[in-house]
Amino acid sequence: MSHRPDPAAVWLGILLRQFPELHQELAPSRGARPLGAGRSGRPTAPAAPIRLFISDTIRDITDGVVELEEAVTEKLRLPRPPRGTVEQRLARLIGLLDEIAARPVLAEHVRGEARRMARRCSLALGDAESPVRVGGRCPYCDSVSLRVFPHRETVLCVNPGCRCAEAECGCRTDAAHRHSWARADWQRLAEATDIDPAELTAAQDAEEPMEGLTAGPAVARDTEGVSR
Ligand SMILES: [Zn+2]
Ligand SMILES: [Zn+2]
Repeated sequence: MSHRPDPAAVWLGILLRQFPELHQELAPSRGARPLGAGRSGRPTAPAAPIRLFISDTIRDITDGVVELEEAVTEKLRLPRPPRGTVEQRLARLIGLLDEIAARPVLAEHVRGEARRMARRCSLALGDAESPVRVGGRCPYCDSVSLRVFPHRETVLCVNPGCRCAEAECGCRTDAAHRHSWARADWQRLAEATDIDPAELTAAQDAEEPMEGLTAGPAVARDTEGVSR
């Protein structure tokens, strides 16, 4: 193809390249001990919340790619796609892009979803970083479980049992979700917990910006999709 690249092709290509890296991040050889070694998911080591982000991301992208391929084949009136790995499904989607491009509404949907998932993937890979522990207790579960994740500018309660009071928050509906506070909410969080806001921003500033770690657009500091 000689025309300029379809953005959907670019995003799907990034996803195809980066998705396997998520599994590498989870591989036992990268960490001190095998994933899920007996510990029933309690956040014991600093690596635990990172793995959690990555496994959440793998699940989100896996579901998203299946749904996207099914939506595409339905709209194109093709047979329901056979089972396949995420990589196989992505490759099949890439193969359908010319047909998708002929339907503007579908093309827009594919572009949006591909972009969202590629960003989420880059974000998770960019977050293979040490979270910074902060003092004070979570306002919802009263545990000493708050961590700052500098690159995503998010504070997270890493207690898997934590549930907030907001009816529509993912931590009530999705067992894998962890309650998080985007940077815009930090002041409120600090007031609710007696944490010095400077402690949160200091954790943030101590961290070097992570340049060039993720290919593609600069998403390392993006908090989209994390905060709500
Ligand atoms: Zn909590
Ligand atoms: Zn919540």
